[in-house]
Amino acid sequence: MEYDLIVIGSGPGGEKGAAQAAYFGHRVAMIEKRSQVGGTGTNTGTLPSKTLRETSLMLSGLRARNLYGVDLSIGRQATVADFLFREKAVVQADQKRVERNLNRHNIDLFEGVGRFRDAHTVEVLGSREQVKNVFRAKKVLIATGSSPHQPEGFPFEHPGIFDSDQILNLTFMPKTMVVIGAGVIGCEYACTFAALGIRVIILEPRDTMLGFLDEEITRTLIQSMQDLGIHVRFGVKVDSCLTPDGGDVRLTLSDGTSLLTESVLVSSGRFGNTSELNLAAAGLEAGKRGQLCVNEHYQTAVEHIYAVGDVIGFPALASTSMEQGRLAMVHAFDLRYKSSLAPILPYGIYTIPEIGMAGMSEQELKAQGVDYVVGHAHYSQNPRGMIIGDSRGFLKLIFEREDMRLLGVHVIGEQASELVHIGLMAIQQKAGADLFIQTCFNYPTLGDLYKYATYAALGSRSR
Ligand code: FAD
Repeated sequence: MEYDLIVIGSGPGGEKGAAQAAYFGHRVAMIEKRSQVGGTGTNTGTLPSKTLRETSLMLSGLRARNLYGVDLSIGRQATVADFLFREKAVVQADQKRVERNLNRHNIDLFEGVGRFRDAHTVEVLGSREQVKNVFRAKKVLIATGSSPHQPEGFPFEHPGIFDSDQILNLTFMPKTMVVIGAGVIGCEYACTFAALGIRVIILEPRDTMLGFLDEEITRTLIQSMQDLGIHVRFGVKVDSCLTPDGGDVRLTLSDGTSLLTESVLVSSGRFGNTSELNLAAAGLEAGKRGQLCVNEHYQTAVEHIYAVGDVIGFPALASTSMEQGRLAMVHAFDLRYKSSLAPILPYGIYTIPEIGMAGMSEQELKAQGVDYVVGHAHYSQNPRGMIIGDSRGFLKLIFEREDMRLLGVHVIGEQASELVHIGLMAIQQKAGADLFIQTCFNYPTLGDLYKYATYAALGSRSR
């Protein structure tokens, strides 16, 4: 069968790339090896983890503590069924959304493993590796995503040892959990489980975590995680992971100590899903960690084959994968309505508390010798912050000292991943203090924090 475009993978990158091409009248076939569409974004990563966080805040009554003087938790140990109920509902709803989007755009969806036969031909394999379909197309979009790295030495078949996909198959609520790796996924899940009352220890081989964040935000996060009961241990590696009697897990650590825990979540990076693609038949080769190299238009070494999303590595976010999918198709089919990924990308980290970031951190600016001023505004001094009871959150704005252009926005607290977009837009428009001073914000809102952080920065500039 002949198509204009074959898309391999139905995650955020594949979905948006396919819809973009189809919207402009191109005939698109999509191949997905799972029985459900949506990829990691819908099924095992973004949406499940964010839903579990919300569930955990709800079941534990954490948001309401100290606020109403009443205990709004469910008042008993949450069961696995309580915990996973909403996650399943949200995942199913999003699968349906993706299906509707594909249908609306007349995209033909085929279930099976996509594998290159040559650079323009892709075959679809069934469960017994039989060839079910063969397609030819002018262009191919690889959006096959990534899978969790399972380091050697961890018996992942044990019911208490999980990677970030397997954690969604929990069959019991553990009392203790060791999270290995203080990356974004590790920290987010550590907070989600700790909020439910599970005793969580994070082990991180480096001496800090989330190094791309502004250091002040990282310090506040570590403090908040400790307050949630999480014990973060830096500079330790796991030497061995044993399950002597099939029950609790014993971890021996590089500092000579050991830990006994009911569960372990291993969160140590991800590998690009390229091993099933038969890349050599298309004249392609994957690099380190199974990833594909692309140019600024998301073309691989074979120019009509594009690759987007996690399979090309950093930043490996659903948000960026979608944009990359659209941009790749803009180039492939000469659609010309935009040409490049936004220069400044926002980050949303769904720890407890939440974090939002865009632009430069203080440590980056120091390293570059930029003269800057900083302004803070605290949730505890903001009426909306008082109402929602977030006493630790703050917004930090960093401006160029000379012209007060906004260089960086950093937020920790409720709604941080939403709030950051105001600053992101300002940075993109090269706006600065004037914009926030002139704007009238709704009251009471967290958005108003921008005005007060700006006043604070102007004050410190004139001192
Ligand atoms: P995927 O979503 O991985 O989809 C790839 C699809 O390709 C899969 O359905 C797979 O089955 C299919 N596939 C693979 N090989 C083949 C083949 N040979 N043939 C056919 N089909 C194939 N991002 C955010 O922006 N915000 C977040 O808060 C966030 N939280 C996350 C939390 C967790 C726990 C994880 C794991 C990830 C999170 N991410 C988040 C990252 C986000 O999920 C990914 O960046 C995004 O899903 C990548 O999209 P993709 O289209 O590249 O690949």
